[in-house]
Amino acid sequence: MKFARFQIGNEESAGVLDGSSIKQITGDIFSGWEYTGNIYEAAEVKLLAPLEPNQIIGIGANFVSTPDDLPDALPEIPVFFFKPTSSVIGPDENIVIPENIDSVKFESELAVVIGKEAKNVSEEDILEYVFGYTVGNDVTAPQYFHEAGHWTVGKSFDTFTPLGPVIETELDPFNISVEARLNGKDKQNSPTSLMIVPIREMISYLTRVMTLKPGDVILTGSPAGAEMVGAGDVIECEIKEIGTLKNKFAAVGKRVEVK
Ligand code: MG
Repeated sequence: MKFARFQIGNEESAGVLDGSSIKQITGDIFSGWEYTGNIYEAAEVKLLAPLEPNQIIGIGANFVSTPDDLPDALPEIPVFFFKPTSSVIGPDENIVIPENIDSVKFESELAVVIGKEAKNVSEEDILEYVFGYTVGNDVTAPQYFHEAGHWTVGKSFDTFTPLGPVIETELDPFNISVEARLNGKDKQNSPTSLMIVPIREMISYLTRVMTLKPGDVILTGSPAGAEMVGAGDVIECEIKEIGTLKNKFAAVGKRVEVK
């Protein structure tokens, strides 16, 4: 099932994408919802980020280029970081390059959406706590990484976390590829088997540190091929089974239409 959020007029709404139509729903996708009976053509509504995350956690440098490069042992302490929920935007919105710099990096990623409260959950059981999966772009301004190793500022600017287009609840996360196209050219395309910290281990580890809650989003790392880009560039992050998340980069104060 593909859950979406969308705008009709000034109203924000939720729905289930079914082919080319969206069946409107009411309620909370995590705890209980029902169809309203209204159906819209997907092409006629503006899609929003498919959820308003509770919190957003990313993992750093989590892909190798080839299976031969996979380490024998997992890192003792994975590199996790938080991104503010205020950085979330939806499909077709502009990613705004901060003042004083002229380029930022795109990072196409599989984003895991937690559906049930999870504390100290084993690797074996952890996928039962996952609601579904969406595509994320972990936009990054490495110019703002602190020399002491802190990434927070460089990951946190408004518009730096595009999510969408939908949350797919029936995905096999071990059988997909994470892709990106920049201005129509292929840049990233790696199977999730090239993750250094695999999905189960990653989320189970987090639950041994913090209680995960419905609506938490975990960005699982970006494959080789992410690049610095500038105003006017168009990035499409894609996981075929979920959809394509397209955004355009814009300079501060210069809004540009994506299409
Ligand atoms: Mg990343």
